[in-house]
Amino acid sequence: MDLGDFLLDKYAKRQEVVQNNGSAVEMEPSESLRSWEPPKELPELPTESALRRAIAQALFQTGCIRVAEIIARRWRFPSAVHKRKAGVFGPRFAILCYHRIGTHGVPLYSGLPRSVFEKQIVYLRKHYRILSLEELLAERESPKSDKPGLAITFDDGYADLYSEAFPVLRKYEVPATIYLVAGAVQSGEIPWYDRIFVAFQVAPADQLMNELGLPEPTRLETPQQRLVAAARYIFTLRAFSDTDRLACCDYLQQRIPIPQSALLNRMLNWNQIREMQSAGISFGSHTVSHPVLSRLSPQDLLRELRDSRHVLENELQRPVLDFSYPFGTQDSFNDATCIQLAALHYRSAVTSLPGLNTRETNPLALHRVTYCETSSLAIFAARLSGLFLSAAGNTGVV
Ligand SMILES: [Zn+2]
Repeated sequence: MDLGDFLLDKYAKRQEVVQNNGSAVEMEPSESLRSWEPPKELPELPTESALRRAIAQALFQTGCIRVAEIIARRWRFPSAVHKRKAGVFGPRFAILCYHRIGTHGVPLYSGLPRSVFEKQIVYLRKHYRILSLEELLAERESPKSDKPGLAITFDDGYADLYSEAFPVLRKYEVPATIYLVAGAVQSGEIPWYDRIFVAFQVAPADQLMNELGLPEPTRLETPQQRLVAAARYIFTLRAFSDTDRLACCDYLQQRIPIPQSALLNRMLNWNQIREMQSAGISFGSHTVSHPVLSRLSPQDLLRELRDSRHVLENELQRPVLDFSYPFGTQDSFNDATCIQLAALHYRSAVTSLPGLNTRETNPLALHRVTYCETSSLAIFAARLSGLFLSAAGNTGVV
């Protein structure tokens, strides 16, 4: 029996108990939960080896990052046939993927100080043309300059995009696109995976091990270990059918209450969104509830793609044409997802698959430069150049 079966078996048994007793087990939050504060420091998830970091640092400090870009192209497209097929001779456009700017509280898996973000923006303005997503999509067909262009995107719609990212974007007059989880904005509640990240921070280790049947040797001694364990747990749930995933989330929610301080005011609200829109920030859909789209029934898939767009268009009073796949990994969407997006007349959809985009890239499966929340400007520059993009890989945490 694997972890998934184990979880579902536990959930089924609990449901039987609930039915026999006639009432669900409600747990009152303890005083320690009420006063819980998220850990201030959580390290970046490891994405680059020490060797790659050293190479990136050396290239950055010596100003050789441009040479590295040429080398990276040759490494990645060795044959002339492949080069023509991949459109490597044409312009390549980067789409940067961020989640949050700021360092404290939900989301726990992502943190980037505002000062580092500002340095990144200064670097981008110096070496690239920062385009709106709409401009980038148009320039893929007819480029306007030899200078490489890129667009900045943020997934999920966390509140600190307003308090931390927006002031920097406005200061440097930089366009960006934010993909909103419509249900999270409507309800003001954090998405399901964030509840899991927080639950893994607050629950006693033995409770997590026993209740969730976590495999040995899961280490839960430090906040960092709990972060990794939660990411693995979410990764496991993503392979379930949506019904089973929801059942497991419900089970966890019943068993491990999470503090109100982690829940409130963590997502953007409509006033903040409208203010940003009037300052030139654009918005796209990131579904209603952030499910794994490839696990949905056709009806639920339609509802997530269509209803999220309707909610956003009603609130923003302008067309919403761009989409971001939750998790964005290869297994999180499929042909049915793309067909439904096209039928609903979405013009673009971004993945979390690392890479740059050429004229030939499917506009409904655009690549992005992921893990931009790095404190190392050298690593950031190396990824943008194309070096390490494939090596960085992606676990699609969210
Ligand atoms: Zn997301």
